Amino acid sequence: MVPEVLTILLVEDNPDDAQCMRRYLDGWQQGNVKLVAAPGLEAALNQLQYSVEVVLLDLSLPDAQPSESYAAIHGAAPETPIIALLDAPDEDLALEVINHGAQDCLIKPQIDGARLIRSIAFALARTGYQKRQREMANERERVRLLQRFIQDAAHDLRTPLTVILVNVAALERALPGDVDAAARYLQLIEDQTLRLRDLLQNYLKLSYLELRDSRPQHERVDIIQLLNEIIREHDSFVHQRRHEVVFEESGLESQEMICDRAKLKLAITNIVTNAITYTPEAGNIIIRAYTRDGYVVFEIEDDGLGIEPNELPHIFNTLYRVDAARPLNTGGGGLGLPIARRIVEQHNGWIKVESEPGRGSLFRVVIPRQPPPGPR
Ligand code: ADP
Repeated sequence: MVPEVLTILLVEDNPDDAQCMRRYLDGWQQGNVKLVAAPGLEAALNQLQYSVEVVLLDLSLPDAQPSESYAAIHGAAPETPIIALLDAPDEDLALEVINHGAQDCLIKPQIDGARLIRSIAFALARTGYQKRQREMANERERVRLLQRFIQDAAHDLRTPLTVILVNVAALERALPGDVDAAARYLQLIEDQTLRLRDLLQNYLKLSYLELRDSRPQHERVDIIQLLNEIIREHDSFVHQRRHEVVFEESGLESQEMICDRAKLKLAITNIVTNAITYTPEAGNIIIRAYTRDGYVVFEIEDDGLGIEPNELPHIFNTLYRVDAARPLNTGGGGLGLPIARRIVEQHNGWIKVESEPGRGSLFRVVIPRQPPPGPR
């Protein structure tokens, strides 16, 4: 859909060429075109902070190499269509930028008003189509996740319900004669009813997290301060389990990142709590933070129970709990990791796990140090 006023950013250092483009677009869309000119890359990047629907990018700018300027503009506004402008035919360069997502490549001496307008109109139509396709794919993914959630939930609820029904029948048979047996059946019914209540509470928590503003806040977060806070909040639990916790932050190039502090804290907390929980007494836990290629990496390593390879693919599934871990009677709800993963994905990051049964686990959370520029 074309907005009421179409803002076109013209990145062009030659005033005569800029004048030409302005003339070509004069009167198009009943005059509802706002042409913003930027004479170089830096000015263009500044302009991209505001809403721009199309970029006309001269590839021979004084302050950048052709592919450099294309990459910079595309990186700053990945969803905005770019039409490249060349001084003279150059097949290789044209192909390179088209391969990297440019909508069109026009050779300046061959441009006339009709050609320029057609190229812009096609670019807008194509971008609109791609956006609709992406939205549909997102919607399909949401439906798929919802279906899976309903299946998982039905499966989880069925077991306690079956136990309750079986014990109600046994209770009916036992009464009024066998009061001891009746008491045992009642206890089982109570246990399973509590289990059902916990399950429902967990579903509510999860759906709250899903529904609540799924776009994370963007705020400046002091990474070291955040991790120290998480470690401090686990002090008594760590002490109770006689663990040793080490925090390594020497690989951080910068102490700051842009993310949703409360959500990131919840994600890392869940992983740290697990490390403490699933490590037998007097274990070692290392928490690391370092920067790599524009990402902040958090590692939480323990020398605890570890996870069987066949269990690994499931531990991020809602309400999944590994049987072997149950003797520790941790009382967890199988919700910590799915929530952590959901939050990390909301930040365009990912979580990986390496684990060896009996030796320990390493959870690695990777998040861009600052969020990629969103659609304008
Ligand atoms: P829970 O509330 O049961 O801890 P999670 O979603 O946080 O749920 O974790 C799912 C399962 O993954 C846990 O039940 C546990 O079996 C396993 N797990 C998670 N972290 C670790 C770890 N550091 N070491 C061993 N097992 C773990």
